[in-house]
Amino acid sequence: MINITDQNGIAVLAVNNPPVNTINAAVRAALFKALDQIGTPKALVLLCEGSTFFSGADIGEFSGPPQEVEYRRLFNAIENLPFPVVAAMHGTVMGGGLEIALASHYRVAAPGTRFGLPEVTLGIIPGAGGTQRMPRLIGVEKTLELVLGARPVDAARAIELGFLDQIVEGDLRAAAVAFASAKRAPRRTGELQATPASEEAVARFTAQARKQYRNQPAPLTAIKAIVAAATMPLAQGLEYETELANAAKATTESKALIHVFFAERETRRIPGIGPEVQARVVKSAAIVGAGTMGGGIAICFANAGIPVTVLDASREGLDRGLAAIEKTYASMVQRGRLAAADRAKRLALINGVLDYDSLKNADVVIEAVFEDPRLKKEIFARLDAMAKPGAILATNTSTLDIEDIATAVKRPRDVIGLHFFSPANVMPLLEVVRTKDTAPDVIRTALDLARPLRKIPVLAKICYGFIGNRMMEGYAREAERMVLEGATPRRVDSALENWGMAMGILAVFDMAGIGVGVSVHKSNADKYPHDPAYYQADFALYDAGREGQKNAKGYYRYEGRERIDDPEAIEILRARAYALGVPQRTHSEQEILERCLYPLLNEGFRILEEGVAVRASDIDVVWTSGYGFPRYRGGPMFHADTLGLKTLHDGMLKYRNIFGPMHWEPAPLLVRLVNEGKTLAQWGRERAGKT
Ligand code: NAD
Repeated sequence: MINITDQNGIAVLAVNNPPVNTINAAVRAALFKALDQIGTPKALVLLCEGSTFFSGADIGEFSGPPQEVEYRRLFNAIENLPFPVVAAMHGTVMGGGLEIALASHYRVAAPGTRFGLPEVTLGIIPGAGGTQRMPRLIGVEKTLELVLGARPVDAARAIELGFLDQIVEGDLRAAAVAFASAKRAPRRTGELQATPASEEAVARFTAQARKQYRNQPAPLTAIKAIVAAATMPLAQGLEYETELANAAKATTESKALIHVFFAERETRRIPGIGPEVQARVVKSAAIVGAGTMGGGIAICFANAGIPVTVLDASREGLDRGLAAIEKTYASMVQRGRLAAADRAKRLALINGVLDYDSLKNADVVIEAVFEDPRLKKEIFARLDAMAKPGAILATNTSTLDIEDIATAVKRPRDVIGLHFFSPANVMPLLEVVRTKDTAPDVIRTALDLARPLRKIPVLAKICYGFIGNRMMEGYAREAERMVLEGATPRRVDSALENWGMAMGILAVFDMAGIGVGVSVHKSNADKYPHDPAYYQADFALYDAGREGQKNAKGYYRYEGRERIDDPEAIEILRARAYALGVPQRTHSEQEILERCLYPLLNEGFRILEEGVAVRASDIDVVWTSGYGFPRYRGGPMFHADTLGLKTLHDGMLKYRNIFGPMHWEPAPLLVRLVNEGKTLAQWGRERAGKT
């Protein structure tokens, strides 16, 4: 794992811990041992083999006992060496990886190296000296910027900020040895004095952190630790950092963020689809329907470097779709997100056509036409007639029965749902929907394809609404009912947003278009013939010609993007409530949250029990990556455990007493777990052990 060589009296310590050189327990032990063996060279060069310098700490260790003290001992030992220590970096140097470099005396890096202290995105703080050493190198203010920004910076910026000494071209090892040969004295970061920030600057960063990281303690804790670097000697500062780091790690927010981090890596593991199932090769794609979704999906493929043919029914539809794609790329270039040359390359991968014959070589075809089952079946029959054998035939439907669509083809094993979210080129979630017939290698291919498309795939079995939209049903229903009961749209949305939802659900409806909801609810309303208020807020606004952002009036009115309370909308809702005889209530913020969240969580238990989702954490990924559920609450199922299943269960019963059993029956799995006194996490572990 560690190789020490002598180059003209300079010791080169090379660590090799593939794949990304995390500083796990074994690496720490090996480093301690290496420091003992090293003797007294003229200088020490510390570097890593493989794709990157230390990429960071081993996040898997976070759930175990705290490791800060060991890190501190190790990094102090490096800093206190009596000869100069040069960290020679390449790749992506994050968290603990950067902190070990800060404890070195000099830092050089290959061009293209990226650096970051992103700990706050996991609800923790840099806890291996980062909050104390970085300010000693670049000052408190710039450290606050780096740590709260939580984004990696490149080598040029690292020089500018002042924690990198040199960018070295050519062979990194040779360049680092040359750098170390220049008879430098040891230069210990810990002996430097950190430049403090003004009170005004600290107040500004604090205000920004409260806004950017709503409800999250870690960024504020990080500020405390970083500010302290200018007031304490290193040893004391490190003690203080450890104390704060351990407190941060113990928070629910941190546990939730780390849960989501691992959950996103877990979704591709599917019981029954092991490594023996080989994915099919996807070298080209086709999309039928050049509308909102079709265009966005085409961009995903082009961004991945996969040629994609886009078909629409009419020249007009196709031209509109292609123009929208060009516009998206133009705005990416304008905002500096994409180089102009890359735009041309990507556009060249997108080929608009009007004939099905042009799709016959595609390895995967994704249908994204209007949400009409007859039309979709017609298209699948045409695809069946011309698509090459082995081509995957996918639909982007949100609500239709994919098994029914698959009856239109003679190869139902090749049919799958690929449910992208709008805007498809931006939203990270991809629900992969299997039917009873979908072949395992088609599922594998879809899950693998998500990687180049830069999506997080979550596998679902077919059912109405799959995972995400099915859970949205109760959430949306209650939000709508509360505005009929007299709550203003602002009051409902604010409660949700204060709690952490990226956007209140009623504002989401305005954004998606109230008409979209209305057509879905109409086809769905017969499920609840005895609920006269079912989705009536949407219906009332739509009947009054309010379509949402599309015509600048819905639950709110809009000036540009600004949401403005609209007494006219409130009047329409009140009139509908009166006509329907909906009893009026006052709603505490607590009630708004409970009524929106409990049905959402409760439905998750049904989805789990029915096997629609493979595991609870998959549901969490759907909601955090597709529906703006706060990551720091871990997703709905993690949140159910945080809340306590008994609280959720009893909450359902409380509202059942008020509103009747139609929508408020606790899910059978929830009832069972409450009776057995188990958490969902326990249940998941037991189940995983069995299978
Ligand atoms: P859209 O109306 O923007 O686009 C549909 C496109 O299909 C249009 O360009 C139309 O010309 C084309 N089309 C219609 N008939 C066709 C035919 N016979 N052959 C070829 N092209 C034809 O719709 P959209 O919002 O992109 O939705 C498409 C699908 O994606 C629907 O099934 C919808 O439920 C699903 N979906 C939409 C969203 C969303 O937020 N918009 C999200 C997820 C899934």
